[in-house]
Amino acid sequence: MKVAVIGTGYVGLVLGACLADTGNDVTCADVDAGKIERLRRNELPIYEPGLDTIVERNQSRERLVFTTDVAAAARDAQVVFIAVGTPPDEDGSADLRYVLAAAETIAKAASREVVVVTKSTVPVGTAHKVRAVLQAHATVPFHVASNPEFLKEGAAVEDFMRPDRVVVGVDSEHARAVMEELYAPYVRTGKPLIFMDIASAEMTKYAANAMLATRISFMNEIAALCERTGADVDLVRRGIGSDPRIGASFLFPGPGYGGSCFPKDVQALVRTGHEHGAPLGILDAVEEANERQKRCAFAKLEALAGPIAGRRVAIWGLAFKPQTDDMREAPALTLIEQVLAAGGSVAAHDPEAMHEARRRLGDRITFADSAYAACEGADALVLMTEWNEYRSPDWPRVAAALRTPVLVDMRNLYDPVRMRVHGFRYDSVGRPARA
Ligand code: NAD
Repeated sequence: MKVAVIGTGYVGLVLGACLADTGNDVTCADVDAGKIERLRRNELPIYEPGLDTIVERNQSRERLVFTTDVAAAARDAQVVFIAVGTPPDEDGSADLRYVLAAAETIAKAASREVVVVTKSTVPVGTAHKVRAVLQAHATVPFHVASNPEFLKEGAAVEDFMRPDRVVVGVDSEHARAVMEELYAPYVRTGKPLIFMDIASAEMTKYAANAMLATRISFMNEIAALCERTGADVDLVRRGIGSDPRIGASFLFPGPGYGGSCFPKDVQALVRTGHEHGAPLGILDAVEEANERQKRCAFAKLEALAGPIAGRRVAIWGLAFKPQTDDMREAPALTLIEQVLAAGGSVAAHDPEAMHEARRRLGDRITFADSAYAACEGADALVLMTEWNEYRSPDWPRVAAALRTPVLVDMRNLYDPVRMRVHGFRYDSVGRPARA
């Protein structure tokens, strides 16, 4: 099938590359000329396991083309995906400017019957706006569809190739048939391709992210209560996770959720609730708990190390989660700002996100070549992201590098008893430091 993808960020690039890999003829368009230039040279603007190989393979076989000419990409495509950003507006609602601009370009360029699919996360009702733009400018028959993306950064290729489910909102048989054909290779194992009306598809994405964010904030608050009552959140997590009505995933406490999706999608859903007179008070609480949690690492650090002024803090992990270089809304950024504001300095390490951190922070912090180098002469170590390489470090080496053996583990990666044996003053999230 002839496919165009407008917007070549995390979502658009994974989508375009994976659709090309099953034999489609895909053109990926983006207004960012630098990004397109690099992609043509097989240089990926993001780190995502396995994606580089797929991009290279499909570019060399000419099934995947990158361009800055959005109109040319859309001209003779049978399906056009809109995968541009939907950042939060000042009031928290999703800014649809880029989505509607892309829709207008598609409408003016399309030269054959086309299905226009919104892949970006957009509030319920956006499809009507996209349709209105198409109606105003298109000269060919068109169909509107919503196909929210559920990929997890760090496992995006795997999630696309082997999805748990694919949700598609359509209101025409043609759109349904096209989407069924396009997704058939990815749901051969029997995973559901769920068709529904467009409004429900749009809502599904927000409901999913809001539910996941709620679980995280819930567990973070339970962890805080565990700390004050002597309970161990790890045991509580296992105890409740074995109930099939609850399930074991997404029950880990930590430094608060971040990334490009949860914070903005929770805010946007709150906004939609207000607009429609159906406020989502529960999500106000979820956001508030998360903001509190993002400041928790610093509070723990100060409690163990004392005043931070003039002290150096080593940080392991900058990305908002492992297997990605994405630092949007990363809790590590909150910690860094707090340490700097308190008059401390930071030496950080991350296996993939250092270039992104450098872009954001410049020379305000020091970037270490290795996890151990970050600890050299530091007064404390804080683990923020649970990258594999931080799981079993050489503890005597870490302790020798640090000036004082203070360790704050915001991912509950380490055993409190062992940390004490290694001589650390140690704290984690929601677990008692049993002697
Ligand atoms: P991104 O910021 O990485 O990429 C967006 C791209 O769109 C950028 O490269 C930008 O230059 C381009 N763009 C903007 N306006 C354009 C236009 N008019 N024409 C062509 N290109 C244009 O964003 P992302 O993380 O890929 O997210 C895209 C959408 O998907 C958002 O709505 C997001 O909420 C949603 N989403 C993201 C994820 C994720 O994990 N990142 C997961 C699911 C859904």
